[in-house]
Amino acid sequence: MDGWIRSILLGTVGIGLFSMNVASADDQWNVVFLTLDGVRAEEFFHGVRFPRRTKETGHAFPLFWERTAQHAMIFGDDDARMRISNPYSVSLPGYQSIFTGRSQGSKCRGNGDDCQPLSESTFLERAKNDLKLKSSEVAVIASWTEYRRAVEKNANSFYVNVGQEPMIDPENPKELPESLGQLNQEQKKNLAPWAPTRSDRFTFDYALWYLKEKQPRMLVIGLNDADELAHHGRYDSYFKTLRKYDEWIERLRETLGQLGEYGRKTALIVTTDHGRGKGVFWSQHARVLAASAWVWAFVVPPEELTDRVTRRNTGTYAHADIRPTVEKLLGLETKKAGPGQSWIESVDSTAD
Ligand SMILES: [Zn+2]
Repeated sequence: MDGWIRSILLGTVGIGLFSMNVASADDQWNVVFLTLDGVRAEEFFHGVRFPRRTKETGHAFPLFWERTAQHAMIFGDDDARMRISNPYSVSLPGYQSIFTGRSQGSKCRGNGDDCQPLSESTFLERAKNDLKLKSSEVAVIASWTEYRRAVEKNANSFYVNVGQEPMIDPENPKELPESLGQLNQEQKKNLAPWAPTRSDRFTFDYALWYLKEKQPRMLVIGLNDADELAHHGRYDSYFKTLRKYDEWIERLRETLGQLGEYGRKTALIVTTDHGRGKGVFWSQHARVLAASAWVWAFVVPPEELTDRVTRRNTGTYAHADIRPTVEKLLGLETKKAGPGQSWIESVDSTAD
C-alpha cells in the first residue's frame, strides 16, 4: 500500500516535471507594443519643462518611474541616446521604419501621398507567418488612421483597427459583445477634434478588451493625442495626456498581472515615433529641428524572464533595433535584414 501510494506520487511528480520541460522547450513569449506619438524624451525623463505653461509639477510618468522602471531596460536618456531610423522626423516614416526595421528612405517622406505603400513586410507579418499564428493572434489597434500604412505590406493578414472603425470580435464578427457595443456608441458620440483620428481613450479601452479576451501573441497599440495637443501648442494638455499614458501603462501592467501564465510570459515595449523641437520649438517636429530625431523606449521583459535576459549596452540605440528585439523575444531567428541590433543580448533559457 505504502509503495503503491509512493509510486503514484512519484508518477505525478514525474508528469509534472515532464510538462514543465515541454513548456520550457516551447517557450512562447508574447509582446504588447505601445507607441505614444510625439512624446519628447525631455518630458519622459525629466517631467515638466515649461513650468509657467502648466500647474502640474514633477514627472510626466510618475507611476512608471516609481513602480516599473526597476524592471525595465530604458533607452534614450542623455547618456545612452536613441535616434529615429529615418531622415524626416515625421510620423509615418517613423512607424514604417519601426515596423520594418529600417528606413524606407525617400519612398516615405511624410504622412500623405509622399509615402508609398510598404514594399517589404513588417515584423508583425513575419511573426504571423513564421509562427503560424491565427489572424487574431496579431492585432493592431491605433488612433491614427494612417497607422495602417506602417504595419502591413499585405492587407488583411491580421486584425487592424484604426481611426473611427468600430471594434468587433474578429473571431466572431457577427456577435458584438455588449461592452464593445457600448464603447462603439460612445466613440461615435465623442469624435476627436482631430477626427477621423480617434480619441485615445477609445483606442485604449478597445486594446484592453482585446488583451483580456484574445491574449494575442502580439498586440500593437498606437496612441496619438499627445502629438495633436502639442501641435496646437497646448503644453498643459500635452503634459496631462502624458500622465494619462502613465496610468494606462500601469493598467496594462496590472492587467498582465491578472492574466496568469499569459501575463507572466508577456513583454511590454513602449516607444515614441519622433521627438520634438527644443525650447520655443517644442510644439513642432521636422527635419530642421534636430532634437526631433531623439527618441526613447523601454522594454519590460516577461516576468518569467526576469533576471534571465542580458541587455546589450552599446551606448547608442535606434528605432531599427526594435524589430530584432521583438523577434528575439518571439523566438524568431534574427535575419540580417536591417541595420538594427536586438537590445536583448541573450536569454538564459535554463529556468531554475
Ligand atoms: Zn506630429
